[in-house]
Parts: sequence; structure tokens; C-alpha cells
Amino acid sequence: MSPLAVTANPSVWIAGDAGLVEVVIVRRKRKRLALVVEVDGEVQCRIPKRCAHYAAKAFILEHQDWVFRAIARMKGRAVRPRPQFAEGAIHYFLGHGYHLKTRADLPGKAQIRQSDLIVRALPDAPMQIQMRLENWYRTQAMLIFNRRLSALVERFDLPMAANLKIRKMKAKWGSCSQSGVITLNLWLITQDIKAIDYVILHELCHLKHFDHTPAFYGYLAGFMPDWRAHKALLV
Ligand SMILES: [Zn+2]
Repeated sequence: MSPLAVTANPSVWIAGDAGLVEVVIVRRKRKRLALVVEVDGEVQCRIPKRCAHYAAKAFILEHQDWVFRAIARMKGRAVRPRPQFAEGAIHYFLGHGYHLKTRADLPGKAQIRQSDLIVRALPDAPMQIQMRLENWYRTQAMLIFNRRLSALVERFDLPMAANLKIRKMKAKWGSCSQSGVITLNLWLITQDIKAIDYVILHELCHLKHFDHTPAFYGYLAGFMPDWRAHKALLV
């Protein structure tokens, strides 16, 4: 359940081998019913505004096997728990996990030293640690995403994005607008560099094919034949 939810959405519980699962019913401006497993593990049934509750329930029960399969798939990908901003907590950078440490007199916001990610902060100031760490992630993301974007454009002779933006996103690693602006999820910087390349290349390919048709994937595979292996690194 999302801690940000102000009004509680109705839900339906389904039972499988792995236990009970809550499916939250979310009304949206849309035409069809759909089941979605969010990155934080919440299962949603998105329904049109005027759809009856019993219709949503019937749809969920009809597709409960899909829900259990999707959850199992996500568990296989080891969804990380909420990050902790305390000494010893594991934080990721370019696919590697580091132990968080603090040092009040560190030059710069943060730095990696062997298996430690050291942040300039007081040990018992989680908000300060979070802020400094996020700032550092953003600086690194700016640098590394821009460098990889240019490298891929040059290597495959692709059109350049109109702009590169970095944003914290909940459910997407990247997106591309009709006007050619590529937006990357800040947390992509925690992923393996091969996975980062895949996401950037995927968005660059949208500059030519603004969809997910076989033509799009054919175009993408022309540059990165093993894109599935790259994508599978995303956790
Ligand atoms: Zn896409």
C-alpha cells in the first residue's frame, strides 16, 4: 500500500500458493480494465471511472494467475527494500552495492572508497544524509548519462536528443517526448552501466520510432542485438 494515499482505494484480496495478495482498485480516465504490478510491489487494477466494483472484481479473479506470475517475476528480480539513511545501509551505484558511512569533514558531498559510500554528514542525521546522497547521485547521473548519451549517438550515428532531463520517477527508467526530450530516472544511476546504455539507446530509438512496434525493436536490435540481456540487468 502506498503511504502517500490519502483516500483509501477499495481492494480485492486473492489467494494463491504464496499467500494472500491485495489488489487495489484505482479509478482512472481510461477505457479498459488492466492489472499492473507497480515497482514497489503494489498490485493495482486500473478501471474506467464508471466501471462497477463487481466488474473489477470479476476481472481480477479471472486474471489472478497472471497476478501471481507477475509477482513471482518481480521477486526473482529482487525488489530492493526502501533505502535506509544510516551507517551500514547498502546503497547502489552503477550496479554495485556500497556500505553507507558518514564523515562530517569529508571534502565534497560524497565519495566512494573501496566498498564504502561515504557521505559528508553527521551519523545520526538521516535527512541530511539523504539530501547529500541524492545531490551526489544527481551530479554523477548528469555526468555519466550525458557521457553515455553522446557515446551512443556517436557510435551508432543516431540523431541527438533535443535535451536530457533527469527526474526521480516511480515506475519508469526513461521516457522520450514527441519533441525529442529524453528524461531518465535519477535512480537509473544505481544500475549496471550496460543497463544504463540499454535504457538510453531505447529512448534514442524512440526519436525515430515513437512506439513499441516490431519495427522499433528491429531498429534497436540493429544497434544492440543482445538488448534483452542488457535489459535483464535492470533490478
Ligand atoms: Zn519505450
